[in-house]
Amino acid sequence: MNSINPATEEIIATLTVDSTESLEEKYRQLKSAQKQWARVSLHERIAALVRFKNLLLQEQPVLAATLTAETGKPLQQANNEIKGAVSRVEWLTENAASYLSDEIMRQNASFTEIISYEPLGVIANISAWNYPYLVGVNVFVPALLAGNAVLYKPSEFAANTGLHIGRLLLGAGIPEAIFQVAIGGGDIGKEILKLPLNGYFFTGSYRTGKYIYEQVAAKMVPCQLELGGKDPIYITDDIKEVKAVAEATADGAFYNNGQSCCSVERIYVHEKVYDEYVEAFVAQVEAWKLGDPTTEGVYFGAITRGAHLQVLEAQVADALAKGARLLTGGKVIEGKGYYFEPTVLVDVTHDMLVMREESFGPIIGIMKVKDDAEALALMEDTAYGLTAGVYADRQERALPILKQLNVGSGYWNCCDRVSPALPWSGRQHSGIGATLSHQGLRAFTKPKGLHLVG
Ligand code: NAD
Repeated sequence: MNSINPATEEIIATLTVDSTESLEEKYRQLKSAQKQWARVSLHERIAALVRFKNLLLQEQPVLAATLTAETGKPLQQANNEIKGAVSRVEWLTENAASYLSDEIMRQNASFTEIISYEPLGVIANISAWNYPYLVGVNVFVPALLAGNAVLYKPSEFAANTGLHIGRLLLGAGIPEAIFQVAIGGGDIGKEILKLPLNGYFFTGSYRTGKYIYEQVAAKMVPCQLELGGKDPIYITDDIKEVKAVAEATADGAFYNNGQSCCSVERIYVHEKVYDEYVEAFVAQVEAWKLGDPTTEGVYFGAITRGAHLQVLEAQVADALAKGARLLTGGKVIEGKGYYFEPTVLVDVTHDMLVMREESFGPIIGIMKVKDDAEALALMEDTAYGLTAGVYADRQERALPILKQLNVGSGYWNCCDRVSPALPWSGRQHSGIGATLSHQGLRAFTKPKGLHLVG
């Protein structure tokens, strides 16, 4: 399998793809070693993942360079991602003992009742390419902490990063038989679904997630899905700094070229601040530099998957055909590499793909609304449910809206944000289950109730 640099279209590595036989062998190793890993003290497992975190920091320049080479994200953003992963591993390792140790629920002279958090066993971590470190550590770090063995399949668009992760975990003292990397695309993912694993943890698109959920159902094991979104924000008329909010939310829409699960994908703006907001928003987008992701100061790098350029073109064409107005961008940039002009569309409606389907690229639709009720109705009009944000001076105005929305994360005066201390979860087509927080640590366990009498 060739890995391509999306910024240059050059081959950066040729990797050996797994086969059914090699996957079965990896599974055998994982299965035979998992119980032993579960017997290693929690304290020692935590220490190994702390060493992994230190190795991430130590090797950051090399890791960031690989990440940029295979995903096309600006080097600065690749470095930010690794720092973000480090802080997640810190939270998870610092809190593992509190949430994974046995809990005494009731105790008196004659009995004790305990919940013991046992590992699931051998789990699959089938992962996405857009933030391979972040979405990876959400799964394999708590899984390993809880005593599981992990079959990790990085995306075919971030496979070199996946191999780095495997190497660093080994260097940190995680036994080789406990963490195995599977290389390949969707076909290898499908083969993993056939193995008798004890849990499936997937990050990726709704389409693949639905397929995996259906395939895994008959196994009756946990299956968690972290999927895409069509995340809305609403800019109310009582924001004070319209320009600053426009700039911050443009970043929420366009960071990582809009290729974030929680990118802002739809913007609703109160009519009283609409003109000022849109003007500042477009000015910010046009001010950011686009180009070679290794050049300092570049904000827009390449689009990771060349084939996705057609999806972006189709969304723009559909919107324009239905009456949208293009304020900036709109086209594929000709030449070597996969580049798309950052694109702002107004006069959009919910009949257009750009307001309904995940764009996952540097495209945004902005819509004028007259009041909170209209904004809420439009925000609710989606099949997804990952995040939503409200910008308002008063929390009392924003919070009731956020509480009504069927989303996993609600943002007041912020967006495109993940905290390791809070559950990361999607609803509806955005997924099932949660990673991060205490829930994310326990997601890789099965609780046993111990009734101890005497
Ligand atoms: P994808 O669904 O194309 O692929 C994800 C993974 O699944 C890859 O490793 C791929 O090889 C594998 N795969 C593909 N077909 C498969 C099959 N039939 N059976 C088993 N495995 C299969 O998604 P992607 O393009 O890698 O990622 C982008 C998507 O991920 C976006 O929709 C984005 O919003 C979503 N995402 C969600 C989160 C979240 O936390 N909710 C985080 C990051 C990305």
